[in-house]
Amino acid sequence: MGSYEENYLSKRPQHLCKMCGKCCRVVTAPMPYEKLKQMAKEGNQGAIDFLFLFVPYNSIYEARKADAGIVDNIINRLKEDGNYVEHDMTFYRCRFLQPDNLCGNYENRPTLCRYFPSSPWAIVPPGCGFEGWLFWKREEDKQKIRMAKEELLELELLRMRTKDEDTLKKISAVEQKIHRNIELYTKYGSENW
Ligand code: SF4
Ligand code: SF4
Repeated sequence: MGSYEENYLSKRPQHLCKMCGKCCRVVTAPMPYEKLKQMAKEGNQGAIDFLFLFVPYNSIYEARKADAGIVDNIINRLKEDGNYVEHDMTFYRCRFLQPDNLCGNYENRPTLCRYFPSSPWAIVPPGCGFEGWLFWKREEDKQKIRMAKEELLELELLRMRTKDEDTLKKISAVEQKIHRNIELYTKYGSENW
């Protein structure tokens, strides 16, 4: 099987990065700013790291002035996935981004920067060098889910053909595992794949 690190992160083709700095100029978080601040207060290291790095824009309007294309792309992607709540949205810029678009803290940049984009479903700015690669990684995930759904149908047929208790238990266990895998992708629309 291998870990997520082996399967995805270590295989990321880093050379695709164009070092345009767009992913540092306008970013958002998967939770409201107030919640992030609360988590940081409670000692959540991810929230502490994020707020150390990123400075909030005062409004969506201000973020659009920095780069409207990135802001609109994020909003559109969240809307497509059904995850857009305007009053919960805050955009941020990194305090270390230099005017030449390079990182002013490159050697010590945190893990979240080293691993960006850390999932095929990460929202990257328009024109990011990873766009095409991420598209194919998402297609691979979709294909895996389609195959999992076919396995469920085959298991259903097997269930109809057997009365053996042990076999039925094994079928249920495998079905549950497959359902759990499919559910991991529900937020990306896996029910329609
Ligand atoms: S937006 Fe993409 S290409 Fe540009 S710096 Fe970030 S990861 Fe690299
Ligand atoms: S620390 Fe560097 S790589 Fe990370 S977001 Fe800031 S400028 Fe970008």
